[in-house]
Amino acid sequence: MAIVSDETVKYLSQVNKPTEEHWTHVYEIGERVPVSGIYRCIHCRDEITSNKGDVFPPQNKIQHPVHAKPILWQLIVLTQTQG
Ligand SMILES: [Zn+2]
Repeated sequence: MAIVSDETVKYLSQVNKPTEEHWTHVYEIGERVPVSGIYRCIHCRDEITSNKGDVFPPQNKIQHPVHAKPILWQLIVLTQTQG
């Protein structure tokens, strides 16, 4: 689970029932990252940070243990950049 401190939680804002695809879709290895942010595998709960335009990374046995179900990345925190 992504962690914030009592001091940094004020930098997060919540969107209720978003309908944009980047919030509703889960992404497979090799798909293009739609927006920069923190993503979580819906099966093993591992988290990664990924930048818009990159591809979701291949499985890494250290970073992402083998499991029977496929890796599926869900956006959990959208970062807002000015560039
Ligand atoms: Zn996983």
